Amino acid sequence: MEQRIEVGVLGATGMVGQHFVKFLQNHPWFELKWVGASDRSAGKKYGEATSWRLDGVMPENVSGLTVEESKPGNAPRLLFSAMDASVATEIERAFAEAGHVVVSNSRNHRMEPDVPLLVPEINADHLRIVPAQQRRRGWKGQIVTNPNCSTIVLTLGLAPFKQFGIQRVLATTMQAISGAGYPGVASMDINGNVIPFIGGEEEKMQQETQKILGEIGGDEIRHLDARVSAHCNRVPVVDGHMVATSVELRDKPDEAAILEAISNFRGVPQERNLPSAPARPVVYLEQKDRPQPRRDVERERGMTVFIGRLRSCPVLDFKFMALGHNTVRGAAGAAVLNAELMCSEGMLD
Ligand code: NAP
Repeated sequence: MEQRIEVGVLGATGMVGQHFVKFLQNHPWFELKWVGASDRSAGKKYGEATSWRLDGVMPENVSGLTVEESKPGNAPRLLFSAMDASVATEIERAFAEAGHVVVSNSRNHRMEPDVPLLVPEINADHLRIVPAQQRRRGWKGQIVTNPNCSTIVLTLGLAPFKQFGIQRVLATTMQAISGAGYPGVASMDINGNVIPFIGGEEEKMQQETQKILGEIGGDEIRHLDARVSAHCNRVPVVDGHMVATSVELRDKPDEAAILEAISNFRGVPQERNLPSAPARPVVYLEQKDRPQPRRDVERERGMTVFIGRLRSCPVLDFKFMALGHNTVRGAAGAAVLNAELMCSEGMLD
């Protein structure tokens, strides 16, 4: 690309916003030129308004940007959104109405029938719903979303199984504390402990998985007709969501066929060599005690989901463990890959 596309981040001062700032640093296609947040931060320099919580220092080219109000006006056409869910619905809609392409990480619009809930390796074709979204709502712009951070690990882990007919899924998560934002869970609650409740998470995992693994037909996405049950737990791990998964399959493949499907699994981002695409979106680890968050989560820039311990399940057909980076593949990296896919489709021209 000769000239990089100017982009902005809504909610840039928050935890996920900071991950966007970091992930977009030196991006070959996108150049971060605009940052938006609440009225509390607007008018200040990004470096003053933001308590930088990530490893390493705040990128210099961003620290001097003035934080803008989250209102359409002078923002670039392409905006990533990491806004607080309590305000994202109206603000994202206002930007889409004003002609912006809003690539959102917030939960607000994910389950709307005319909004793609994208995992580009799985359902890149769901972008075909966007013209219907624009027609119905009279928007010049659009909203595209990425899934919840545990859903993305589950769906990428399940994606190679889809060809065998997924019928029922049981998924038990061990979710990192970084998934709760900052300051997140109190240290007195999480140290040496497991909290077996994350508000709204199980419902999101169940519904989003069916939408992502569903098929597009005409102007609608038909959800996968499979039953999905999730148990969500917060554990004292910094980064990396684990999902212990059991799956029932219509075609009853053997283990070798599944391992071959995992090994061959690639998607549109790999075919098009998109800048943030990992060489392989799903990698099987042979060692019997892997994947592990501390050892594996940062590999491949946090964009790969690692699977291990595939074995037969006496209740459903097979069980395995999946691991993914919740703030990279589950948040900022997911949204940037979505925008790269849209760019490669000519949707940002
Ligand atoms: P956060 O740290 O609380 O940041 C929220 C951001 O929203 C801040 O930039 C804040 O700006 C801005 N904001 C708040 N009120 C606003 C308003 N009235 N108008 C405009 N901007 C406003 O939250 P987070 O953890 O980054 O999460 C952001 C979103 O990502 C949420 O929807 C969350 O559900 C989703 N998400 C989070 C994770 C995760 O790992 N944390 C993963 C996936 C998805 P100020 O600094 O000015 O207040």
